[in-house]
Amino acid sequence: MPNQDILQQALEIARAQAGVRPMTAAEVATYVSEVAHALEATIEGDGAPAVPVMDPKRSIGESYVTCLECGKKFKVMTIRHLKTHGLTAKEYKAKWGLKKDVSLTAKGLVRMRRKKMQEMRLWERRGQNMD
Ligand SMILES: [Zn+2]
Repeated sequence: MPNQDILQQALEIARAQAGVRPMTAAEVATYVSEVAHALEATIEGDGAPAVPVMDPKRSIGESYVTCLECGKKFKVMTIRHLKTHGLTAKEYKAKWGLKKDVSLTAKGLVRMRRKKMQEMRLWERRGQNMD
């Protein structure tokens, strides 16, 4: 149950909100409890790590990588995108507990590239044998 201070704060926010758009009593009540919970979560979460949009380990999927900062999906997570969150790839991985050597690229894409590399190597070998 939210404490009195939080409820008071939530009530004031709701009052301000009600001034912006008309709200029914039920809406105000819902709004107050929502705001109170959000405020409470903010206070309790002080200093705690941010809540990821999903399990960081699962953010690197088969066909895309999900940005744990904003939830956007990419085939390849770019340094440029991480910059929009004020993070480097290294900081991003450290923040979300990802391994340093993990590739911020969709698994399927990594596998396809690896396969291509292997094929290329096979061709190289074949070329050498023919010499
Ligand atoms: Zn993002």
